[in-house]
Amino acid sequence: MSTAEYKPCPVCGEEIRLAARRCRHCGEVFEKLSEDRDEGDATGGVIPYKNPQALMAYYLGLFSLFPCFILGWVALYLGLQGLAAAKKNPRIKGTVHAWIGILVGGFFGLIWTLFTVLALFGSMVA
Ligand SMILES: [Zn+2]
Repeated sequence: MSTAEYKPCPVCGEEIRLAARRCRHCGEVFEKLSEDRDEGDATGGVIPYKNPQALMAYYLGLFSLFPCFILGWVALYLGLQGLAAAKKNPRIKGTVHAWIGILVGGFFGLIWTLFTVLALFGSMVA
């Protein structure tokens, strides 16, 4: 067996297997650390692939810049869903994306809805 498969235990310094979840010398448990590494993706968690609602909310939030008020409200809705999902399971991440969807989507949803209502109201008066 090559020494490359071993690392020193961060607690007691004894050699332990790289994949070890528990030090056989001092009994330190590394379960959480190695699990996080297993679940990590190539982006280092910047893009929340495991939280599609948050990701969708983010993109719809950006698209809600276009004058279509539905997009903003959908972004707001998905953002709330993504936020709830991230709260339930913090490992899937996406809180930032969800918030961008909520804030940007909610803001433009409101703006475009107001514009639409004003336009309708204006055309009724005219
Ligand atoms: Zn140890």
